[in-house]
Amino acid sequence: MYRSGGSLPRPAQTRIMVVANQKGGVGKTTTTVNLAASLALHGARVLVIDLDPQGNASTALGIDHHAEVPSIYDVLIDSRPLSDVVQPVRDVEGLFCAPATIDLAGAEIELVSVVARESRLQRAISAYEQPLDYVFIDCPPSLGLLTVNALVAGAEVVIPIQCEYYALEGLGQLLRNVELVRGHLNPRLHVSTILLTMYDGRTRLASQVADEVRSHFGAEVLRTNIPRSVRISEAPSYGQTVLTYDPGSSGSLSYLEAAREIALRGTSAQQGVPQQDQHNPVKGAQ
Ligand code: ATP
Ligand code: MG
Repeated sequence: MYRSGGSLPRPAQTRIMVVANQKGGVGKTTTTVNLAASLALHGARVLVIDLDPQGNASTALGIDHHAEVPSIYDVLIDSRPLSDVVQPVRDVEGLFCAPATIDLAGAEIELVSVVARESRLQRAISAYEQPLDYVFIDCPPSLGLLTVNALVAGAEVVIPIQCEYYALEGLGQLLRNVELVRGHLNPRLHVSTILLTMYDGRTRLASQVADEVRSHFGAEVLRTNIPRSVRISEAPSYGQTVLTYDPGSSGSLSYLEAAREIALRGTSAQQGVPQQDQHNPVKGAQ
C-alpha cells in the first residue's frame, strides 16, 4: 500500500470533478485515475466514478468489473446506494472506485424512461455518507445522458485536451452543453480546469496547440502539461496508475504536479467563483 509523505491542503467540502471531452482518446480516463491517485497519495479521500461502459477507469485501478459485479449501472437504473458498489483500490490508501460494467452500455437508452433521469447520479452522490475530499467522474466520449448526469452531479468540469491537430474541434459543443446544464439544472457548474495531455514539446504542433488553448482559456489551463510517456500508457495493463507503477517517471511527476495545482486552486473553485489569475500562467510556457 503506497502512501506519500507530503500532504496537500484538503478542501473544506467535497469537490466533485467531471472529467469530460466528447472527443475520444484525449486522456480523460488517464487523467481521472492519475489525478485521483495523486491526491489520495497526498492524504485526500478520493472516489473515482467510472461512468464509461468501456470500464477503462475500473481496469486502470485494478477493480473487478465483470458483468456480475455491482456497479454504477445499478446505482443509476435501480437506485442502488452508491455505498453498495464502491470498492477500495488495492494499492492506494484513501482511493475508492465505483466500477462500470458492460451493462452501462444500455443505460444511455434505459435512462430515457427513468424518473429524474438527469439527476440520478447527483442523488446517489448526495446520499453517500462516507466523507470524501474529491469525487472524479470519468465520462464516456459522448454528450448523452451519462455525461449529462455527471454534469448535473458535479461542480467543476475538467477538460483534458490532447495536443494534436483538431484538438479544439468539438470543444464548443461541450462548452455549450456545460452552459445549458448550468442554466437549467446545476447553477454551480463551471469549467475549472483544462489540462494539456500527451504533450510533446519537441513538436511545433504541440506548442501551437498549447498556445492556442492558453490564449482561449487563460487561467483555467493548468501550468503543468502532461508529457507523452510510455510509462503512463503501460500502467493500466498492470491494473495500476503511473503513480504506483513508476513513481519517479516524468508522467508520474507531471500528474502529481497537476494535482498539486488543483489542490492549491481549490478554495475559489469550491465556491463556484471562476479561477482568478492566482497562478499567473505564463502564456505558451510549460
Ligand atoms: P475514451 O474517449 O475512449 O474514453 P480517453 O479520453 O479516456 O478515451 P485515455 O483512455 O485516457 O483517453 O487515453 C487514450 C490512450 O492514450 C490510452 O491508450 C492511454 O494509455 C494513452 N495515453 C493517455 N495519456 C497518455 C500520455 N500522457 N502518454 C502516452 N499515452 C497516453
Ligand atoms: Mg476513457
